[in-house]
Amino acid sequence: MDAPTSAQTSPTGRMSGSPSTIVTAISGDGIGPEVMRAVKRVLAAAGARIDWEDAEAGAAIFKRGIASGCPQDTLDSIARTGVVLKGPLETPVGYGEKSANVTLRKFFELYGNIRPVRELPGIRTPFSGRGIDLVIVRENVEDLYTGIEHMQSAGAAQCLKLITEPGCERIIRLAFALTQAESRHKLACATKANIMKMTEGMMKRVFERVAPEYSDIQASHIIIDNCAHQLVIAPEQFDVIVTTNMNGDIISDLAAGLVGGLGVAPSSNIGDSAAMFEAVHGSAPQIAGRDLANPTALLLSSVMMLRHIGDFAVAEAVEQALLVTLEEGRNLTGDIAARGTGVGTTAYTDQVIANLGRVSSQPSRQYHPLTLPVWPKGVWHHESDSRIMMGLDVFIESDHDPEQLAASLQAATEGTDFTLKMIENRGVQVWPANTGRPFLVDLFRCRFLLGTPSEGAPREIAHLMERLTAEHHWMHVEKLQRFDGLDGYTRAQGEN
Ligand code: NAP
Repeated sequence: MDAPTSAQTSPTGRMSGSPSTIVTAISGDGIGPEVMRAVKRVLAAAGARIDWEDAEAGAAIFKRGIASGCPQDTLDSIARTGVVLKGPLETPVGYGEKSANVTLRKFFELYGNIRPVRELPGIRTPFSGRGIDLVIVRENVEDLYTGIEHMQSAGAAQCLKLITEPGCERIIRLAFALTQAESRHKLACATKANIMKMTEGMMKRVFERVAPEYSDIQASHIIIDNCAHQLVIAPEQFDVIVTTNMNGDIISDLAAGLVGGLGVAPSSNIGDSAAMFEAVHGSAPQIAGRDLANPTALLLSSVMMLRHIGDFAVAEAVEQALLVTLEEGRNLTGDIAARGTGVGTTAYTDQVIANLGRVSSQPSRQYHPLTLPVWPKGVWHHESDSRIMMGLDVFIESDHDPEQLAASLQAATEGTDFTLKMIENRGVQVWPANTGRPFLVDLFRCRFLLGTPSEGAPREIAHLMERLTAEHHWMHVEKLQRFDGLDGYTRAQGEN
């Protein structure tokens, strides 16, 4: 495999003492402009040397007829600056096709979603006092979120779960690097490898291959459902968790709920050439423009951004001012204040600014620059030493019962090098029949094995498919291959 060649600090990193950093600021929709204004005021008061390049995305852009929700000017600005602070973007219903957030993540290949989850002083939850302080690192671009979906029949839908080796390695190395950069010691990889041995299993295998390179970090694997359980039973045991996209989507929201909810949760999206920092909450249109919004989540996101660009001192000053404000509980916004004592966004921001220079009872962590591998350009390719074709899985839409279908398929194999090995329905073998009684739907996976496995069998495939096409409505075909002596496919439930 073409491994990453060398290491570099984050692409936009700069050490303190160097000139201003240009940052693209997307205020976004709803409460976005208010919370962005608040954050810019705090950062200016704290002495952050940032030149803001304001850019647009979201609802107004959809209304102008730009279906991506992101105009070219904005994309150009991000390509130039490599750093974005972003407010929430509405995903409109009824116009505009895609989420502008997802467009930005995919366009700049922001493969790592980092979600710190830390107990905040003054924000009471059932978990207060447990000392929760963990980070979830979620793969952000692969898995079920590639959005490759097909109807297999009028009543059977399929979504492709695509997981790649470099996709796993990038996020795993990011998680190890982050664990080191934040002076943490434990990294747990959470997967469903017990069930999805190829896809989720790849994440686990790559994790186990890479982990020995980071001997200072205690690496472990945990099944994702147990991880969710443990996050509720004993969340304080976790330091950093790395996981695949769908798992991460779910457990990062669960974890945010432990410490006060999405309203106070920050995040970053990291790629090789750009990084985007944003609050986890949405545009809260009900309270937009009323000076009610809590800017804490975007402020915490901006603290992550300051560390990303190397401004560790200002990051700590802002973080500490915020913690002092929350600790003292004076002039908090209505969503987190004691009943009847809430103030507006502006007054809360003034209070944070007034607390700059003060230190809370919770010291900030020791942060160091994040060092990430540089991935080679071009198409990534893993050349196997051997590749043998064993057969085909053909997905056929049929209302025949399995015995009838098998008879017809066996007839189709006559004169070819294929034999029918089994038929399954939604993952369970139904021919040859065994004792199970699965509910049948009109989509069957029919497994044909070659009499003589070979390095490639295009003529035999064409021959069989021609026969099948004459009698059946097939949807797609998967080759059954062995790479370097290992099966590149799984068996159906009940298949021997
Ligand atoms: P939401 O905007 O997060 O709002 C849900 C509720 O949470 C609000 O009504 C408000 O509660 C409270 N809230 C959220 N942020 C707050 C803040 N900073 N200060 C005080 N209260 C806050 O979720 P949603 O209503 O599901 O989504 C609205 C829009 O945002 C949708 O178009 C969605 O697509 C978009 N969205 C964008 C992003 C993003 O850009 N990353 C993320 C999520 C959603 P009260 O009404 O009780 O005050």
